[in-house]
Amino acid sequence: MISLNQHPSGRHFLQIPGPSPVPDRILRAISLPTIDHRGPEFGALGKKVVAGMQQIFQTRHPVAIYPASGTGAWEAALVNTLSPGDSVLMYETGHFASLWRAMALKLGLEPEFLALPGTDKETGLPLAWRNGVRAELIEERLRKDSNHRIQAVCVVHNETSTGVTSDIAAVRRAIDAARHPALLMVDTISGLASADFRHDEWGVDVTVSGSQKGLMLPPGISFNALSPKALARAKDAKLPRAYWAWDEIVEMSASGYWPYTPSTNLLYGLSEALDMILDQGLPAIFARHKRWSEGVRAAVGAWGLPTQCADAALHSPVLTGVITPEGVDADGLRRLMHQRFDLSLGTGLGKLKGRMFRIGHLGDCNDLTLMATLAGVEMGLKLGGVKLAGSGVAAAMDFFAATPAREA
Ligand code: PLP
Repeated sequence: MISLNQHPSGRHFLQIPGPSPVPDRILRAISLPTIDHRGPEFGALGKKVVAGMQQIFQTRHPVAIYPASGTGAWEAALVNTLSPGDSVLMYETGHFASLWRAMALKLGLEPEFLALPGTDKETGLPLAWRNGVRAELIEERLRKDSNHRIQAVCVVHNETSTGVTSDIAAVRRAIDAARHPALLMVDTISGLASADFRHDEWGVDVTVSGSQKGLMLPPGISFNALSPKALARAKDAKLPRAYWAWDEIVEMSASGYWPYTPSTNLLYGLSEALDMILDQGLPAIFARHKRWSEGVRAAVGAWGLPTQCADAALHSPVLTGVITPEGVDADGLRRLMHQRFDLSLGTGLGKLKGRMFRIGHLGDCNDLTLMATLAGVEMGLKLGGVKLAGSGVAAAMDFFAATPAREA
Protein backbone atom coordinates (compact mmCIF):
# COMPACT_ATOMS: atom_id res chain seq x y z
CA MET A 1 0.00 0.00 0.00
CA ILE A 2 1.44 3.42 -0.95
CA SER A 3 1.59 5.87 1.92
CA LEU A 4 1.73 9.51 0.88
CA ASN A 5 3.07 10.22 4.41
CA GLN A 6 6.31 8.57 3.40
CA HIS A 7 6.85 11.19 0.75
CA PRO A 8 10.25 12.91 1.04
CA SER A 9 10.41 16.56 2.06
CA GLY A 10 9.86 19.36 -0.44
CA ARG A 11 7.59 19.20 -3.41
CA HIS A 12 7.58 16.32 -5.87
CA PHE A 13 8.67 17.34 -9.37
CA LEU A 14 5.83 16.11 -11.53
CA GLN A 15 7.39 16.96 -14.88
CA ILE A 16 5.49 14.49 -17.02
CA PRO A 17 3.44 15.89 -19.91
CA GLY A 18 0.22 15.52 -17.97
CA PRO A 19 -1.22 15.19 -15.48
CA SER A 20 0.52 18.50 -14.86
CA PRO A 21 1.14 20.16 -11.48
CA VAL A 22 -2.11 21.67 -10.19
CA PRO A 23 -1.93 25.24 -8.79
CA ASP A 24 -2.94 25.62 -5.11
CA ARG A 25 -5.74 27.99 -6.13
CA ILE A 26 -7.36 25.19 -8.13
CA LEU A 27 -6.81 22.59 -5.39
CA ARG A 28 -8.54 24.90 -2.91
CA ALA A 29 -11.47 25.42 -5.29
CA ILE A 30 -11.87 21.64 -5.70
CA SER A 31 -12.00 21.18 -1.92
CA LEU A 32 -15.22 23.23 -1.50
CA PRO A 33 -18.32 21.32 -0.37
CA THR A 34 -20.13 19.36 -3.07
CA ILE A 35 -23.50 20.89 -3.99
CA ASP A 36 -26.78 19.61 -5.47
CA HIS A 37 -26.15 19.10 -9.18
CA ARG A 38 -29.84 19.80 -9.88
CA GLY A 39 -30.01 22.90 -7.67
CA PRO A 40 -29.99 26.58 -8.71
CA GLU A 41 -26.34 27.30 -7.82
CA PHE A 42 -25.17 24.46 -10.04
CA GLY A 43 -26.83 25.93 -13.14
CA ALA A 44 -24.71 29.07 -12.82
CA LEU A 45 -21.51 26.98 -12.49
CA GLY A 46 -22.46 24.77 -15.44
CA LYS A 47 -23.22 27.72 -17.71
CA LYS A 48 -19.99 29.45 -16.70
CA VAL A 49 -17.75 26.48 -17.49
CA VAL A 50 -19.39 25.76 -20.85
CA ALA A 51 -19.08 29.43 -21.90
CA GLY A 52 -15.48 29.53 -20.64
CA MET A 53 -14.57 26.38 -22.54
CA GLN A 54 -16.00 27.90 -25.73
CA GLN A 55 -13.46 30.73 -25.26
CA ILE A 56 -10.64 28.24 -24.71
CA PHE A 57 -11.55 26.21 -27.82
CA GLN A 58 -12.13 29.50 -29.68
CA THR A 59 -15.59 28.43 -30.80
CA ARG A 60 -19.10 29.85 -30.82
CA HIS A 61 -20.57 26.34 -31.04
CA PRO A 62 -21.48 23.80 -28.32
CA VAL A 63 -18.90 22.10 -26.09
CA ALA A 64 -19.84 18.78 -24.45
CA ILE A 65 -18.17 18.18 -21.08
CA TYR A 66 -17.81 14.58 -19.85
CA PRO A 67 -16.92 13.19 -16.42
CA ALA A 68 -14.31 10.98 -18.08
CA SER A 69 -10.66 10.90 -19.11
CA GLY A 70 -9.59 11.93 -22.61
CA THR A 71 -10.09 8.40 -23.93
CA GLY A 72 -13.83 8.75 -23.27
CA ALA A 73 -13.93 11.95 -25.32
CA TRP A 74 -12.10 10.16 -28.18
CA GLU A 75 -14.84 7.53 -28.16
CA ALA A 76 -17.54 10.21 -28.00
CA ALA A 77 -16.13 11.89 -31.14
CA LEU A 78 -16.25 8.62 -33.11
CA VAL A 79 -19.56 7.17 -31.93
CA ASN A 80 -21.51 10.39 -32.37
CA THR A 81 -20.50 10.94 -35.98
CA LEU A 82 -19.87 7.55 -37.62
CA SER A 83 -21.62 4.31 -38.57
CA PRO A 84 -20.36 0.70 -38.45
CA GLY A 85 -17.90 -0.05 -41.27
CA ASP A 86 -17.24 3.62 -42.05
CA SER A 87 -13.86 4.39 -43.52
CA VAL A 88 -11.78 6.85 -41.48
CA LEU A 89 -8.45 8.40 -42.49
CA MET A 90 -6.13 8.58 -39.48
CA TYR A 91 -2.52 9.75 -39.39
CA GLU A 92 0.33 8.10 -37.50
CA THR A 93 2.24 10.70 -35.50
CA GLY A 94 2.99 8.53 -32.47
CA HIS A 95 1.52 6.42 -29.69
CA PHE A 96 -1.67 8.43 -29.10
CA ALA A 97 -2.59 8.52 -32.78
CA SER A 98 -2.03 4.73 -32.75
CA LEU A 99 -4.29 4.27 -29.72
CA TRP A 100 -7.08 6.32 -31.32
CA ARG A 101 -6.81 4.11 -34.40
CA ALA A 102 -6.97 0.97 -32.21
CA MET A 103 -10.15 2.33 -30.67
CA ALA A 104 -11.66 2.96 -34.13
CA LEU A 105 -10.95 -0.69 -35.02
CA LYS A 106 -12.60 -1.91 -31.81
CA LEU A 107 -15.68 0.16 -32.60
CA GLY A 108 -16.09 -1.58 -35.98
CA LEU A 109 -14.79 1.28 -38.13
CA GLU A 110 -12.31 0.84 -40.97
CA PRO A 111 -9.40 3.14 -40.19
CA GLU A 112 -6.71 3.70 -42.78
CA PHE A 113 -3.44 4.79 -41.16
CA LEU A 114 -1.36 7.23 -43.21
CA ALA A 115 2.25 7.77 -42.17
CA LEU A 116 5.44 9.33 -43.38
CA PRO A 117 7.36 6.23 -44.55
CA GLY A 118 10.92 5.37 -43.57
CA THR A 119 13.35 5.28 -40.71
CA ASP A 120 15.47 8.11 -39.43
CA LYS A 121 19.21 7.59 -40.16
CA GLU A 122 20.38 9.47 -37.04
CA THR A 123 18.37 7.41 -34.54
CA GLY A 124 16.93 4.37 -36.32
CA LEU A 125 13.46 5.52 -35.18
CA PRO A 126 10.39 5.73 -37.46
CA LEU A 127 10.32 9.07 -39.30
CA ALA A 128 6.57 9.29 -38.67
CA TRP A 129 7.26 9.52 -34.92
CA ARG A 130 9.68 12.44 -35.35
CA ASN A 131 7.53 14.57 -37.63
CA GLY A 132 4.08 16.12 -37.82
CA VAL A 133 1.14 15.40 -40.10
CA ARG A 134 2.03 16.01 -43.75
CA ALA A 135 -1.11 17.69 -45.07
CA GLU A 136 -0.11 16.94 -48.67
CA LEU A 137 -0.36 13.18 -47.98
CA ILE A 138 -3.91 13.71 -46.69
CA GLU A 139 -4.84 15.79 -49.74
CA GLU A 140 -3.38 13.19 -52.11
CA ARG A 141 -5.33 10.37 -50.41
CA LEU A 142 -8.60 12.30 -50.34
CA ARG A 143 -8.30 13.20 -54.04
CA LYS A 144 -8.16 9.46 -54.83
CA ASP A 145 -11.33 8.86 -52.79
CA SER A 146 -13.57 10.09 -55.60
CA ASN A 147 -16.72 8.38 -54.30
CA HIS A 148 -16.24 9.89 -50.83
CA ARG A 149 -16.07 6.67 -48.82
CA ILE A 150 -13.87 8.34 -46.20
CA GLN A 151 -16.14 9.87 -43.58
CA ALA A 152 -13.62 11.55 -41.30
CA VAL A 153 -9.98 12.62 -41.06
CA CYS A 154 -8.55 12.21 -37.53
CA VAL A 155 -5.29 13.80 -36.41
CA VAL A 156 -3.49 14.59 -33.17
CA HIS A 157 -2.53 18.25 -32.70
CA ASN A 158 0.11 17.85 -29.97
CA GLU A 159 1.43 14.25 -30.02
CA THR A 160 2.25 13.76 -26.34
CA SER A 161 4.34 10.65 -27.00
CA THR A 162 6.84 12.55 -29.18
CA GLY A 163 6.61 16.29 -28.51
CA VAL A 164 5.73 17.08 -32.13
CA THR A 165 2.84 19.36 -33.09
CA SER A 166 0.92 19.39 -36.36
CA ASP A 167 -0.44 22.24 -38.46
CA ILE A 168 -4.20 21.78 -38.19
CA ALA A 169 -5.08 24.73 -40.45
CA ALA A 170 -2.99 23.02 -43.18
CA VAL A 171 -4.99 19.80 -42.75
CA ARG A 172 -8.23 21.79 -43.17
CA ARG A 173 -6.82 23.40 -46.34
CA ALA A 174 -5.88 19.95 -47.66
CA ILE A 175 -9.43 18.62 -47.13
CA ASP A 176 -10.88 21.69 -48.83
CA ALA A 177 -8.39 21.54 -51.71
CA ALA A 178 -9.47 17.94 -52.36
CA ARG A 179 -13.13 19.15 -52.22
CA HIS A 180 -13.84 16.31 -49.81
CA PRO A 181 -16.79 16.27 -47.38
CA ALA A 182 -15.00 14.27 -44.61
CA LEU A 183 -15.25 15.62 -41.08
CA LEU A 184 -12.05 16.90 -39.48
CA MET A 185 -11.56 15.51 -35.96
CA VAL A 186 -8.63 16.68 -33.85
CA ASP A 187 -7.19 15.44 -30.58
CA THR A 188 -5.70 18.35 -28.67
CA ILE A 189 -5.84 16.62 -25.31
CA SER A 190 -2.36 17.86 -24.44
CA GLY A 191 -2.32 21.00 -26.58
CA LEU A 192 -5.35 22.92 -25.38
CA ALA A 193 -4.66 26.04 -23.29
CA SER A 194 -0.90 25.69 -23.92
CA ALA A 195 -0.56 25.67 -27.71
CA ASP A 196 -2.60 27.91 -30.01
CA PHE A 197 -5.77 26.10 -31.08
CA ARG A 198 -8.70 27.61 -33.01
CA HIS A 199 -11.69 25.29 -33.44
CA ASP A 200 -13.82 27.61 -35.59
CA GLU A 201 -11.14 29.45 -37.56
CA TRP A 202 -9.36 26.21 -38.51
CA GLY A 203 -12.63 24.55 -39.53
CA VAL A 204 -12.40 21.66 -37.07
CA ASP A 205 -15.59 19.59 -36.74
CA VAL A 206 -14.84 17.78 -33.49
CA THR A 207 -12.06 18.74 -31.09
CA VAL A 208 -11.22 16.32 -28.28
CA SER A 209 -9.51 17.50 -25.10
CA GLY A 210 -8.97 16.71 -21.43
CA SER A 211 -8.54 18.42 -18.07
CA GLN A 212 -5.16 17.20 -16.83
CA LYS A 213 -2.77 19.08 -19.10
CA GLY A 214 -2.93 22.78 -20.05
CA LEU A 215 -6.08 23.36 -18.02
CA MET A 216 -4.02 22.49 -14.92
CA LEU A 217 -6.70 20.28 -13.35
CA PRO A 218 -6.44 16.74 -12.07
CA PRO A 219 -7.52 14.04 -14.56
CA GLY A 220 -11.25 13.32 -14.77
CA ILE A 221 -13.04 15.60 -17.19
CA SER A 222 -12.86 15.75 -20.96
CA PHE A 223 -14.41 17.64 -23.82
CA ASN A 224 -15.79 17.55 -27.33
CA ALA A 225 -16.04 20.91 -29.12
CA LEU A 226 -18.48 20.58 -32.00
CA SER A 227 -19.25 22.19 -35.34
CA PRO A 228 -22.72 22.53 -36.89
CA LYS A 229 -21.61 19.98 -39.53
CA ALA A 230 -20.64 17.45 -36.82
CA LEU A 231 -23.98 17.99 -35.05
CA ALA A 232 -25.81 17.41 -38.34
CA ARG A 233 -23.83 14.19 -39.01
CA ALA A 234 -24.72 12.96 -35.52
CA LYS A 235 -28.36 12.75 -36.59
CA ASP A 236 -27.57 10.00 -39.14
CA ALA A 237 -24.64 8.27 -37.40
CA LYS A 238 -25.47 4.65 -36.49
CA LEU A 239 -22.75 3.56 -34.04
CA PRO A 240 -24.44 2.71 -30.72
CA ARG A 241 -24.09 5.41 -28.08
CA ALA A 242 -25.88 6.30 -24.87
CA TYR A 243 -23.63 7.89 -22.23
CA TRP A 244 -21.63 9.72 -24.92
CA ALA A 245 -24.60 10.97 -26.97
CA TRP A 246 -24.20 14.68 -27.68
CA ASP A 247 -27.89 15.60 -28.14
CA GLU A 248 -29.03 15.40 -24.51
CA ILE A 249 -25.76 16.78 -23.10
CA VAL A 250 -25.72 19.77 -25.45
CA GLU A 251 -29.37 20.53 -24.79
CA MET A 252 -29.13 20.30 -21.00
CA SER A 253 -25.78 21.97 -20.53
CA ALA A 254 -27.05 25.08 -22.34
CA SER A 255 -28.89 25.75 -19.06
CA GLY A 256 -25.97 24.55 -16.94
CA TYR A 257 -26.99 20.95 -16.18
CA TRP A 258 -26.11 17.42 -17.33
CA PRO A 259 -28.25 14.30 -17.96
CA TYR A 260 -26.24 12.49 -15.25
CA THR A 261 -24.20 13.46 -12.21
CA PRO A 262 -21.29 15.60 -13.39
CA SER A 263 -17.93 15.87 -11.56
CA THR A 264 -19.07 18.76 -9.36
CA ASN A 265 -15.76 19.39 -7.61
CA LEU A 266 -13.66 19.13 -10.76
CA LEU A 267 -16.02 21.68 -12.31
CA TYR A 268 -15.24 24.04 -9.39
CA GLY A 269 -11.60 23.53 -10.34
CA LEU A 270 -12.39 24.18 -14.00
CA SER A 271 -14.19 27.39 -13.09
CA GLU A 272 -11.10 28.56 -11.18
CA ALA A 273 -8.76 27.49 -14.01
CA LEU A 274 -10.86 29.45 -16.50
CA ASP A 275 -10.60 32.57 -14.33
CA MET A 276 -6.83 32.17 -14.18
CA ILE A 277 -6.39 31.45 -17.90
CA LEU A 278 -8.81 34.04 -19.23
CA ASP A 279 -7.45 36.72 -16.85
CA GLN A 280 -3.97 36.17 -18.24
CA GLY A 281 -5.22 35.82 -21.81
CA LEU A 282 -4.52 32.94 -24.17
CA PRO A 283 -1.78 34.73 -26.19
CA ALA A 284 0.33 35.27 -23.04
CA ILE A 285 -0.16 31.62 -22.05
CA PHE A 286 0.86 30.33 -25.48
CA ALA A 287 3.95 32.60 -25.39
CA ARG A 288 4.86 31.34 -21.89
CA HIS A 289 4.81 27.68 -22.96
CA LYS A 290 6.77 28.43 -26.13
CA ARG A 291 9.44 30.20 -24.11
CA TRP A 292 9.69 27.33 -21.61
CA SER A 293 10.02 24.90 -24.46
CA GLU A 294 12.83 26.99 -26.01
CA GLY A 295 14.64 27.10 -22.65
CA VAL A 296 14.40 23.32 -22.24
CA ARG A 297 15.62 22.81 -25.81
CA ALA A 298 18.60 25.06 -25.11
CA ALA A 299 19.52 22.59 -22.34
CA VAL A 300 19.00 19.49 -24.49
CA GLY A 301 21.07 21.04 -27.29
CA ALA A 302 23.91 21.83 -24.87
CA TRP A 303 23.89 18.22 -23.61
CA GLY A 304 24.35 17.19 -27.24
CA LEU A 305 21.29 14.94 -27.26
CA PRO A 306 18.71 14.87 -30.10
CA THR A 307 15.11 15.86 -29.47
CA GLN A 308 12.43 13.45 -30.62
CA CYS A 309 10.94 16.22 -32.77
CA ALA A 310 13.06 16.44 -35.91
CA ASP A 311 11.28 19.47 -37.40
CA ALA A 312 12.36 22.77 -35.83
CA ALA A 313 9.07 24.42 -36.78
CA LEU A 314 6.96 21.83 -34.95
CA HIS A 315 8.48 21.55 -31.47
CA SER A 316 5.76 21.16 -28.86
CA PRO A 317 5.42 24.03 -26.39
CA VAL A 318 4.19 21.48 -23.82
CA LEU A 319 6.87 18.81 -23.69
CA THR A 320 10.28 17.88 -25.03
CA GLY A 321 11.18 14.32 -25.99
CA VAL A 322 14.88 13.57 -25.41
CA ILE A 323 16.48 10.62 -27.23
CA THR A 324 19.11 8.80 -25.19
CA PRO A 325 22.30 7.42 -26.80
CA GLU A 326 22.15 3.86 -28.25
CA GLY A 327 22.45 1.30 -25.48
CA VAL A 328 21.32 3.66 -22.68
CA ASP A 329 17.95 2.62 -21.27
CA ALA A 330 15.90 5.80 -20.96
CA ASP A 331 13.59 4.15 -18.42
CA GLY A 332 16.59 3.22 -16.26
CA LEU A 333 17.58 6.89 -16.24
CA ARG A 334 14.03 7.93 -15.34
CA ARG A 335 13.98 5.48 -12.44
CA LEU A 336 17.31 6.80 -11.20
CA MET A 337 16.11 10.42 -11.35
CA HIS A 338 12.92 9.50 -9.51
CA GLN A 339 14.78 7.65 -6.80
CA ARG A 340 17.53 10.22 -6.29
CA PHE A 341 15.76 13.51 -6.92
CA ASP A 342 12.02 12.85 -6.56
CA LEU A 343 11.59 13.85 -10.20
CA SER A 344 9.03 12.22 -12.52
CA LEU A 345 9.64 12.38 -16.26
CA GLY A 346 7.47 10.87 -18.99
CA THR A 347 8.37 7.40 -20.24
CA GLY A 348 8.97 6.47 -23.89
CA LEU A 349 5.70 5.04 -25.21
CA GLY A 350 5.06 2.35 -27.81
CA LYS A 351 7.81 2.28 -30.46
CA LEU A 352 9.91 4.65 -28.32
CA LYS A 353 10.02 2.47 -25.20
CA GLY A 354 13.44 2.71 -23.57
CA ARG A 355 14.76 5.05 -26.30
CA MET A 356 13.66 8.41 -24.94
CA PHE A 357 12.18 10.29 -22.00
CA ARG A 358 9.84 13.27 -22.01
CA ILE A 359 10.17 16.49 -20.00
CA GLY A 360 6.81 18.17 -19.38
CA HIS A 361 6.79 21.99 -19.24
CA LEU A 362 3.16 22.82 -18.61
CA GLY A 363 0.79 23.50 -15.76
CA ASP A 364 1.92 25.15 -12.55
CA CYS A 365 5.55 25.79 -13.66
CA ASN A 366 7.91 28.72 -13.81
CA ASP A 367 11.51 29.35 -14.86
CA LEU A 368 12.89 28.17 -11.53
CA THR A 369 10.86 24.95 -11.36
CA LEU A 370 12.10 24.19 -14.86
CA MET A 371 15.70 25.02 -13.86
CA ALA A 372 15.40 22.59 -10.93
CA THR A 373 13.96 19.97 -13.26
CA LEU A 374 16.84 20.42 -15.70
CA ALA A 375 19.33 20.19 -12.83
CA GLY A 376 17.74 16.86 -11.83
CA VAL A 377 17.92 15.61 -15.42
CA GLU A 378 21.54 16.71 -15.84
CA MET A 379 22.60 15.06 -12.59
CA GLY A 380 20.68 11.92 -13.55
CA LEU A 381 22.26 11.76 -17.01
CA LYS A 382 25.73 12.07 -15.50
CA LEU A 383 25.01 9.45 -12.84
CA GLY A 384 23.65 7.19 -15.58
CA GLY A 385 26.95 7.41 -17.45
CA VAL A 386 25.70 9.51 -20.38
CA LYS A 387 28.51 11.58 -21.88
CA LEU A 388 27.31 15.16 -22.18
CA ALA A 389 28.72 17.72 -24.60
CA GLY A 390 28.20 20.53 -22.08
CA SER A 391 25.96 21.88 -19.34
CA GLY A 392 22.31 22.12 -20.28
CA VAL A 393 21.62 23.83 -16.96
CA ALA A 394 24.03 26.66 -17.80
CA ALA A 395 22.54 27.00 -21.30
CA ALA A 396 18.97 27.16 -19.95
CA MET A 397 19.96 29.69 -17.25
CA ASP A 398 21.46 31.90 -19.94
CA PHE A 399 18.34 31.52 -22.07
CA PHE A 400 15.86 32.31 -19.29
CA ALA A 401 17.91 35.23 -17.99
CA ALA A 402 18.28 36.74 -21.45
CA THR A 403 14.70 36.17 -22.61
CA PRO A 404 12.13 38.09 -20.59
CA ALA A 405 8.68 36.53 -20.28
CA ARG A 406 5.97 38.29 -22.24
CA GLU A 407 3.71 40.40 -20.01
CA ALA A 408 0.07 39.31 -19.73
N1 PLP B 1 -4.48 11.71 -26.61
C1 PLP B 1 -3.38 12.35 -26.18
C2 PLP B 1 -2.66 13.25 -27.14
C3 PLP B 1 -2.95 12.19 -24.87
O1 PLP B 1 -1.86 12.86 -24.43
C4 PLP B 1 -3.66 11.33 -23.99
C5 PLP B 1 -3.20 11.12 -22.62
O2 PLP B 1 -2.12 11.50 -22.23
C6 PLP B 1 -4.79 10.69 -24.49
C7 PLP B 1 -5.17 10.89 -25.79
C8 PLP B 1 -5.59 9.77 -23.62
O3 PLP B 1 -6.22 10.52 -22.62
P1 PLP B 1 -6.53 9.92 -21.18
O4 PLP B 1 -5.30 9.26 -20.69
O5 PLP B 1 -6.94 11.14 -20.39
O6 PLP B 1 -7.67 8.96 -21.34
